[in-house]
Amino acid sequence: MALLLRNSLTKASEPFVPLTPGRIGFYACGPTVYDEPHIGHLRSAYTFDWIRKYLGRSGYQVTFVRNVTDVDDKIIEKARQEGCADLRRGVQDVSERYLRLYHKDLELLGVAPPDHEPRATQHIPAMIALIQRLIDRGAAYAQGGDVYFSVKSFTGYGKLSRQDVQAMLEHVRVDPNDKKRDPLDFALWKSCGPDEPAWESPWGPGRPGWHIECSAMSMGLLGESFDIHGGGRDLIFPHHENEIAQSEAASGKTFARTWLHHGLITIEQQKMSKSLKNFVTLTEVRKSGPRAIDELKLLFLGTHYSAPLDYSAERMRMEHQVRLRFDHFYEELEQLRGHYEPKPHPTLARIIGDFESAMSDDLNSPLALTALHALVHESRKLRDPGAMLEAGRLLTEAGSIFGLFSGQRQATEAGSEAWLREAVSRRAEAKARKDYAAADAVRQEVQDRGYTLSDWPGGRTTWRKAE
Ligand SMILES: [Zn+2]
Repeated sequence: MALLLRNSLTKASEPFVPLTPGRIGFYACGPTVYDEPHIGHLRSAYTFDWIRKYLGRSGYQVTFVRNVTDVDDKIIEKARQEGCADLRRGVQDVSERYLRLYHKDLELLGVAPPDHEPRATQHIPAMIALIQRLIDRGAAYAQGGDVYFSVKSFTGYGKLSRQDVQAMLEHVRVDPNDKKRDPLDFALWKSCGPDEPAWESPWGPGRPGWHIECSAMSMGLLGESFDIHGGGRDLIFPHHENEIAQSEAASGKTFARTWLHHGLITIEQQKMSKSLKNFVTLTEVRKSGPRAIDELKLLFLGTHYSAPLDYSAERMRMEHQVRLRFDHFYEELEQLRGHYEPKPHPTLARIIGDFESAMSDDLNSPLALTALHALVHESRKLRDPGAMLEAGRLLTEAGSIFGLFSGQRQATEAGSEAWLREAVSRRAEAKARKDYAAADAVRQEVQDRGYTLSDWPGGRTTWRKAE
């Protein structure tokens, strides 16, 4: 099945064809580490993780790069606020501390480490070389210790964000103290204060601008042209627009061929912001229950990656119910396993076909999830334990792309299992002595306590929580 990806650059769904057959170079903008990660960061990391896993599952050899911005105005500001005597040391402490938190959250989410996780401060020479190349080509200029990219020198500027340079100029604020030649020009290299972290460069001590980091690290690790570049919608302008300008002006080649942008998160319909203090962290999410992480994943998957998503207590309660339905299915399978063998069924093959079609049509996870729900309820309708087990196998396989349904035994509510077993055997005994009234009474008793019994060919009976 041909994979279609909606490319933010062309605004069209395009058949995905990698530059090198069978291989994919995939870069995603990672965090600037100066604060505790919130669910916006987690949606980003989780989304690119399952996309990467899906591409790998589709037979591609994927090289996935996600960077870390570990020197930046915001990190320096944080270190200043903390009152570190040695600011350079402080910047390092802040970035290391928050990177650890980011990694911890990703581990809890089951997000796999990228193939490369370049940190900006470890790639400064590549950034300096790239800036020099831009100066040599007339696309950048040094001015008073800073280096700026000349936007006018790059004719394609605005092609990703679909903006006209002329129109952008009308909205830009002109600062009379600016060292820029043109108000749209942006910094590639920044000279800095005496106490700030600095690296030696041909233009004096300073640090790289944020945009050049991603250009230098992505091209360094994946080549001047590569397949997929991802990030949040909020990065389209100016960050990604600037990445394209710098990279293409330096190499003369197409930079990333396909751009994937994920939607942003609102909290109870409000934008996440410092002033509203409504950042939701994973610690917060986990307070809603022991399996809240799976429920958060279901929430993420229930909306197309490119669309905005609202996080709310109500939505989390809904996802809790969704998660329970899958758990109950696995609980039932556990009782069939060992007594029957998985058996393919045309209905299940059709549903998995639907799953594959949804995924290959621009990674439509909400539709893919619908197919996974169908595996559960359609296989139950078949009344065939072999088909049920096969549905479970398919569910585990498909779910592993999303880090869900690892097939582990889900715990029955505390204390329920023993009496359920006892009730099932009591009912079997009643049936054996043809005391159908007693057998029905047991079924009723089980039902009254919130469970449903199912009888299977060959005499097995299973229970599941009534929904
Ligand atoms: Zn970036």
